[in-house]
Amino acid sequence: MMAVTGFLIRHVHWPLMERLKENRTRHYMRDLQQAQGLPADQLLLRQRQKLGRLLAHAVRHVPAYASLAAEWDRGDTAPERFLQRIPVLDKTHFRLHADDYLAKGTPLSKLIGNRTGGSTGEPTRFYLDRPSVERYEAARFLGLSWHGIRIGDPCVMIWGSPLELNQQQERKYRWKERWLKNRLLLSAYELDERRLETQLTLIRRFRPAYLYGYASALHTLAEMMLKRGWTIEIPLRGVVSTAESLHEHQRQKIAAAFQAPVINEYGARDGGIIAYQCPEGRMHAFTENCYLEVVDPITKLPLYPGESGALLVTDLHNTVMPRLRYQLGDVAALSGEACSCGIGYPLLAAIDGREDDMFVSLSGQYVHGHYFNHIVRNMESFRTFQIIQHQPHSLSLKLVKEPGRFRRSDEDRLLAGIRTALGEVSVQVAYVDHIPPTSSGKIRYAIRECPLTSVQPME
Ligand SMILES: [Zn+2]
Repeated sequence: MMAVTGFLIRHVHWPLMERLKENRTRHYMRDLQQAQGLPADQLLLRQRQKLGRLLAHAVRHVPAYASLAAEWDRGDTAPERFLQRIPVLDKTHFRLHADDYLAKGTPLSKLIGNRTGGSTGEPTRFYLDRPSVERYEAARFLGLSWHGIRIGDPCVMIWGSPLELNQQQERKYRWKERWLKNRLLLSAYELDERRLETQLTLIRRFRPAYLYGYASALHTLAEMMLKRGWTIEIPLRGVVSTAESLHEHQRQKIAAAFQAPVINEYGARDGGIIAYQCPEGRMHAFTENCYLEVVDPITKLPLYPGESGALLVTDLHNTVMPRLRYQLGDVAALSGEACSCGIGYPLLAAIDGREDDMFVSLSGQYVHGHYFNHIVRNMESFRTFQIIQHQPHSLSLKLVKEPGRFRRSDEDRLLAGIRTALGEVSVQVAYVDHIPPTSSGKIRYAIRECPLTSVQPME
């Protein structure tokens, strides 16, 4: 049945959408697919041309960039060099001045409103147009195609947030998901020990080609299964992890429970689908859709390939609300290497999570939240934890005990590890039963509340 639905979606529903709604996702996907075979210098050239067109449009039609028009018109600077002169756009500035980024004369009917989840800080409103949304979709489908997954293939989505719909809306939504997208939605909120067997039966009966969900939700499900010695017992082409950084221990558990490769999707609500993991396990950036830079989080100066810093995204196609050098809040590193899989899109060397997960030590060093995660994973005492840096010298640590394995001495070792990295900080320890997810359904291990600049590095 799922195979029939997939066939109908591919051969009836999509062609119809293209005719009636002028949906161009498959067309964009073919473009992206052709470009992935091009040599690196040609990809770079195409990207530079798109960037040039975007800059020409932005200085002409977007109030926030109007002051650059005269300089751009002199035409003596390459687009990527010109871009570097434009100040980095952070979320706070964008939220306060969003109207200045709307292109003049854009008909309201062309605008698609969206907003970030706002798990940290206030949600940010922004606009896209339909082609931009379709290009993101196309990038996702291309990434999935690298793993043998096609448009319309059955998918079980393990989603973080409950559906905010009334019953009738929910029925309609689930019907559309089921028959037009071949998707079954399971809420991560419904994943608990009592309902585990029922949920697994639902998944097995649906026979998905792949699962798709938050790293933490997939990991929670995998852990519950493995604890009982269960695996999924149906063949899957992959498990796609999205919206959160995927830790190595999570990847291992997910792969063991679902007996399939774990595929990392890197995207953001306000940044589109930026990169996808290839069968060689590396992350390829869709440079046909976006221009990426990595800069030092404080000085904003560009960093070399291999160096981790703040990722800046310039969406090359969003002409209704161009955001140049938009600082997503993620920490990443570019790579100059080529991948053995043959896909030409450049690699990201690392995606290290959120800037908010980066801690700052008393001596001004950055310490990534992964560091604490690593210490805790090497102990048997704790099921999970959450560490919050309120001020550089003041932290709180919530710990969930692993029943039967807990040893008090592990708390001392953990505190010692924290102080080795951060200096002689004060840590308020509390034992709790569980760590609640944020409003968007994500579980965060490490949260920094003070700004990164609050400690001056020692010379
Ligand atoms: Zn590759």
